[in-house]
Amino acid sequence: MSDYVFEPFKIKSVERIPILTRDERAARLKAAGYNVFNLASQDVTVDLLTDSGTGAMSQEQWSAVMRGDEAYAGARSFQRLAETVHDVFGFEHFVPTHQGRAAENVLFPLTVKPGDIIPTNQPFDTTQANIEAAGGAAMELVIEEGVDPTSHHPFKGNIDVERLAALLDDVGTERAPLAVITITNNTGGGQPVSLANLRAAKGVLSDRGVPLYLDACRHAENAFFIQEREPGYADKPIRGIVHETLALADGFTLSAKKDGLANIGGLLATRDEALFERVKQRLIRTEGFPTYGGLAGRDLDAMAVGLREALDERYLRYRVGQVRYLAGRLTEGGVPIVEPPGGHAVYVDAARFLPHIARDEFPGQALATSLYLEGGVRCIEIGGVAFGKIDPQSGETHWPGLELVRLAVPRRVYTQSHLDYVADTVIELYGRRDGVRGLRMTYAPEVLRHFTARFEPVRGD
Ligand SMILES: *Cc1c(COP(=O)(O)O)cnc(C)c1O
Repeated sequence: MSDYVFEPFKIKSVERIPILTRDERAARLKAAGYNVFNLASQDVTVDLLTDSGTGAMSQEQWSAVMRGDEAYAGARSFQRLAETVHDVFGFEHFVPTHQGRAAENVLFPLTVKPGDIIPTNQPFDTTQANIEAAGGAAMELVIEEGVDPTSHHPFKGNIDVERLAALLDDVGTERAPLAVITITNNTGGGQPVSLANLRAAKGVLSDRGVPLYLDACRHAENAFFIQEREPGYADKPIRGIVHETLALADGFTLSAKKDGLANIGGLLATRDEALFERVKQRLIRTEGFPTYGGLAGRDLDAMAVGLREALDERYLRYRVGQVRYLAGRLTEGGVPIVEPPGGHAVYVDAARFLPHIARDEFPGQALATSLYLEGGVRCIEIGGVAFGKIDPQSGETHWPGLELVRLAVPRRVYTQSHLDYVADTVIELYGRRDGVRGLRMTYAPEVLRHFTARFEPVRGD
């Protein structure tokens, strides 16, 4: 496979992989209420649940962990992180947080009031939940190609700039305290956003005095796609592209569990000094003192090193290459996926994989649970369970555009043969897809329901 780039590292420490029998997996799945979030990791063979916090740290990061300064205030670990944030992102005012959603839970209550609308390309689930908790509503303005799983548009995460302008002119800017663009667009399949698009969106926003915040969890992977696909960027180094991207932002939130190559951590940065003062006050109440933000000093050091390592072009070529390799094998096997694959995951189109299962019997959830049953592969549904919305008046469900299953690839964890095993499992199931049955939801929590909902198989008649 020409796209495959061999692992640019060798393995120094290993973890044994559990392998259960099919009967054991069937029992675990039933006990888990057919929700893979309820499975114990000791029952999972290849864990593609998420690429968040699941990466392997480098020897440089582990060494940095030992340097961690656990002083309550003004730790050297914080100073090292501040240097990284300045060098990588070009921001002075920032706070660490314990993860990405904690940054959101500091930012949105301080900026969003009830009735506000927040234009986005597409929000991540926690971003949407935190905007809604503050009384606002996230408006999805991703380009049309972004919700078409067959489109090969190079930047499917782009925001529709015309609709952005029209929305702001329609609702008025008093009700739009900020806009959020997610790079890469996780919800839409890990799809990148171009610099041209960010620049155009920034123009529309700054004309109207609306600040642009980036959800920059995958800034390095996004930069890799810009280098690869955007005219004029082939010879620009990744760090320069990241700089140019962040220069357009008035602030950003970030989960260091993604391109930070850390197991825990997050950041919130802003150029708004008045807001920054309020950020620090709220942080002290909810996360911790502004120089540690809910983390240990050693975590800050792991982030400080990881955020630099993620800009290594050999690493990124391998990282994106690994996702492409898996996507290529699935496509060869006839499996319908979102094309082209994004940076951190392959998204299988469950609606086309299981066309015989109705939307209200959750084809994505049925596929995710079947992959565990067949091969011990854990992945998640990103479809009707995660994003279905029940109208409180009519009781009807509003279904999201796509019904997907995400095979997220942890960073620097699995090898090519692990991915071959995953591909074989998916392709094998595809051959027998007619036998897969839908699910009935037996317990539905009100928010972020994919984490704790429970199901049972629909009886065949
Ligand atoms: C993971 C993620 C978040 C939330 O970060 P956590 O560290 O999981 O809290 C927000 N936005 C995007 C795009 C993400 O992928």
